Amino acid sequence: TNYLATRLSLGAEATPDKVFATRPGLPDVTYAQLFTGAQQIAQRLLGAGLRPGDRVAVQVDKTLEAVQLYIGTVLAGGIFLPLNTAYTGPEVAYFLSDATPAIVVCDPARLAEITPLAGAATLFTLDKSGHGSLTDDLPAADPGFQPVPRDGSDLAAILYTSGTTGRSKGAMLSHANLASNSETLRDLWQFTDQDVLIHALPIFHTHGLFVATNVALLAGASVVFLPKFDPEAILDAMPTATSLMGVPTFYTRLLESPRLTPEHAKNMRLFISGSAPLLVDTHEKWQTRTGHRILERYGMTETNMSTSNPYTGDRRAGTVGLPLPGVELRIMEGDHPVAPGKIGVIEVRGPNVFQGYWQMPEKTAEELRPDGWFITGDLATQDSDGYVTIVGRAKDLIITGGFNVYPKEIESLIDDIPGVLESAVIGVPHPDFGEAVVAVVVPENPALTLADIENVITTQLAKFKQPKQTLFLPELPRNTMGKVQKKALRETYASVFS
Ligand code: ATP
Ligand code: MG
Repeated sequence: TNYLATRLSLGAEATPDKVFATRPGLPDVTYAQLFTGAQQIAQRLLGAGLRPGDRVAVQVDKTLEAVQLYIGTVLAGGIFLPLNTAYTGPEVAYFLSDATPAIVVCDPARLAEITPLAGAATLFTLDKSGHGSLTDDLPAADPGFQPVPRDGSDLAAILYTSGTTGRSKGAMLSHANLASNSETLRDLWQFTDQDVLIHALPIFHTHGLFVATNVALLAGASVVFLPKFDPEAILDAMPTATSLMGVPTFYTRLLESPRLTPEHAKNMRLFISGSAPLLVDTHEKWQTRTGHRILERYGMTETNMSTSNPYTGDRRAGTVGLPLPGVELRIMEGDHPVAPGKIGVIEVRGPNVFQGYWQMPEKTAEELRPDGWFITGDLATQDSDGYVTIVGRAKDLIITGGFNVYPKEIESLIDDIPGVLESAVIGVPHPDFGEAVVAVVVPENPALTLADIENVITTQLAKFKQPKQTLFLPELPRNTMGKVQKKALRETYASVFS
């Protein structure tokens, strides 16, 4: 058997005629149609010579056919390797030379650019309407088709990390990694075949691909399949949907619409946020505007999801909740656990934890301990009742004049100042202090002045934590997953003190 395919196709076997995806302006797709198409694509990949364990690198727009390509790769025993559509030619060149795929699928508009980068790989195309050499003129599905056998320990996907802190690394994820996490999330968040999930996330990232798509499939649920994030399209879907998974920017953007009311959201049972920190302010505004408390969870490419606020129980704003069932979590300083409530690095262990970084044995050895604990690089505290609060990334920790400064503490203080929308605090090189604290502030009210910020900072913060420079910016640099690009900010302001 094929470990993951068996589980992903449960819904299709139970209710083949049920609609898997509705798509504004396009025909509905049933579970049977989804899997028949996936199987036809699997046959095409096998026909192109794909062998078990070969990588299928994919840089295409979000379409139902791209989802079928993911399932088809799993059925064919390959390793699915999706790439952010924003990556440029030179970036794609790195991923392809690192991953040496047997098959590359790209947008036909970029065929000339990608062909020389694909080396010996077989190239297919797939465009934003689902057409291309991958899907055109597919022969009928073979009724005797059997998925290529794969065990739980075989790789199903290599996902490159977002590159927020440095060069992206390929996280090797096994069939059992993906299946176990989706089953855990489905049960914890109570997804059933009655659910209609608004799917507006990209499918090149773990959030949209594994959390959203796999959970929907394993629950036999339906999705409203949106090609990209569009607040109006989400609001159009809301009255007949039950759930939404989004990054924090989804929620802040939706809050700008007057259409967002408790009445409009009354069919919804669950709003989930992750991939970047959700501001307490957003959490509170959302509750006021919809009557719902957003459920925030935490995960990463290497681990899928590791913690979640409870479905029934206290969803605490500003926290990422409790370790998932079956996932162990500890807060460490080096090789020792910190005292309760103190800041340290999150380590996790469980069936969700990846198999290592593709072709980076040293990096894997640095971050994955021999006894299975994965060192996430995220700094956090854990309450006596288990709730985890992330305070930032270890790589964003500022050391100034020998003192540790946690950006989140200063950001929270600044964010609470009236007239401030949000902020990012970074460390930049300083001749005397090694690093100096710099605050980048996005005003909400144009009348906000630097003095408004400084008054609060100088009265509330120890001298060593006070930003040595505060700047206003119209917005923070973010990637497609809503993550603030602190690396880019540090580069921009690298020489303010030199
Ligand atoms: P790279 O590892 O290449 O630097 P990245 O860590 O941003 O990039 P991802 O795997 O996409 O790549 O993101 C995982 C990270 O996202 C986590 O380590 C954590 O820092 C952050 N994150 C995810 N969910 C949350 C959350 N709910 N709150 C705060 N941070 C979160
Ligand atoms: Mg990371």
